[in-house]
Amino acid sequence: MPPEALVIGSGFSSLSSACYLAKAGFSVTMLEKNHQPGGRARQLRDQGFTFDIGPTWYWMPDVFENFFADFGHRVSDFYQLSRLDPSYRIYFDQYKYEDIPASKEELYRLFEKYQPGSTSLLKSFLKQAGMTYNLAVKEMAFKPGYSLFEFVTPQTMTNAHLFVQSLRRLVRSKFKHPYLISLLEFPVLFLGAKPGDTPAFYSFMNHADLEMGTWYPDGGMYSVVEGMLKLASDLGVTIHTDIAVGGLEVSDANVRNVITSSGNYAPDVVVSGADYQHTESLLPIEYRNYSEKYWSKRTFAPSALLFFIGLNKKLTTVLHHTLFFDSSFDNHAEAIYDHPSWPEQPLFYINVPSVTDPTVAPIGNECMTILIPIAPGIEDTAEIREKYFLDTIRRFEYLTGEKIIEHIVIKHSYCVNDFTKDYNAYKGNAYGLANTLFQTGYFRPGIRNKKVKNLFYTGQLTVPGGGVPPAIISGKIVAGEIIKKINIDEYAA
Ligand SMILES: Cc1cc2nc3c(=O)[nH]c(=O)nc-3n(C[C@H](O)[C@H](O)[C@H](O)COP(=O)(O)OP(=O)(O)OC[C@H]3O[C@@H](n4cnc5c(N)ncnc54)[C@H](O)[C@@H]3O)c2cc1C
Repeated sequence: MPPEALVIGSGFSSLSSACYLAKAGFSVTMLEKNHQPGGRARQLRDQGFTFDIGPTWYWMPDVFENFFADFGHRVSDFYQLSRLDPSYRIYFDQYKYEDIPASKEELYRLFEKYQPGSTSLLKSFLKQAGMTYNLAVKEMAFKPGYSLFEFVTPQTMTNAHLFVQSLRRLVRSKFKHPYLISLLEFPVLFLGAKPGDTPAFYSFMNHADLEMGTWYPDGGMYSVVEGMLKLASDLGVTIHTDIAVGGLEVSDANVRNVITSSGNYAPDVVVSGADYQHTESLLPIEYRNYSEKYWSKRTFAPSALLFFIGLNKKLTTVLHHTLFFDSSFDNHAEAIYDHPSWPEQPLFYINVPSVTDPTVAPIGNECMTILIPIAPGIEDTAEIREKYFLDTIRRFEYLTGEKIIEHIVIKHSYCVNDFTKDYNAYKGNAYGLANTLFQTGYFRPGIRNKKVKNLFYTGQLTVPGGGVPPAIISGKIVAGEIIKKINIDEYAA
């Protein structure tokens, strides 16, 4: 009999680890508490409108391609991708916006418009960003994070200054115009930390943005989930939804009994892609890697207030991705990280995939998601959501000159309380832990339980970090460590 692996959750990290374990010969069962698999990347459908509830930016296409290649496939076997051009739009003020082009020549022209002579600065910045991408995403991201020495290589030592200097300082040492600074500091927001707290090494996110581009999987990001579900199922993974794991019983330093809302399981190995702190709460206290105090001292990435809106008109002033950077980022960041509270005039992001994809909204309609990053754990009430909804719609109308309020035909909101309820997310975080220097690599919560030999953790709270590509890599790392540890042949004998 093959060894049995039980995977908790069905987000990208769980799906990824399940696929690698099944390929290696494990008998894999996934248990997901929600009705729909996909974790934070679930989908909402209502009256002909289709929304991605979580991720909407498809960056680092090489990570997805490499994942499917590990199973003898190509991305195109599961979904069709197209590169967006322009990649996205940024509003800086009323009617004042710039489109970020896919073409490098056009990008240079954009930089020259705001900072004459900046092409050479941009070229050298992007050259360095390409180097850090190769080092970070192709090499370091795949380390299990057991030891600091995994990350001490001749190349990282040569670039040690990029871990000490912040991205903010690096960008501002070269670029002076506030629009260019916003454009170059924006990508690290995906890492959940302030540019001032993010090492310059993370400029690889600029490489991902400006060199590799923004892509769109037809049908939305949920097509990626469906592709991975299909692959998992083809590999023999059994996927059960509507089953929550409620406890992990330990004896002889191993999880021997997994208690669920629908019976018990006794696997040989357990991988949890559920939020780390929640997984630990399923264990008796003496077997947890980290205390409540540890979690309370971590810097969590933001939570988010989201609105999913159907409009009975087509929009003319936005692209597939539009960022609204018309107010102070520093003030907004302070309300997220320094004094957790509702921000006064937050930056926001709008996703309108129906600009590109006619299948996600009825003809002549538009489906629109509004995302406002907020501090995790802050008060979440219907009144607060409505206030921010009206404020944001007003700001949208003012900045773009386009009326939408009377065209809203459906509306859903999603915030801190939903993240907590749906995903067991600590303080209702959306993106896991921030990738600050001391929450990177070896310093992140570990993938192994130190006292329970057959319990492993994957996902955005452990290595390498938050975001869809890192979650997929995380699943590969953890499966690799389990495959090294468990001798499949012994089970076959
Ligand atoms: C609003 C939002 C926007 C984002 N935008 C982007 C983006 O544009 N691009 C990008 O790359 N990334 C983005 N991200 C981040 C990305 O979505 C996540 O990093 C990634 O999906 C996390 O995957 P995961 O496997 O680590 O965790 P999750 O997707 O959270 O999966 C964990 C799963 O475990 C399940 N679970 C929890 N407890 C239990 C239990 N007791 N029993 C059974 N199951 C349980 C949960 O229901 C969930 O399905 C976004 C995230 C959010 C929330």
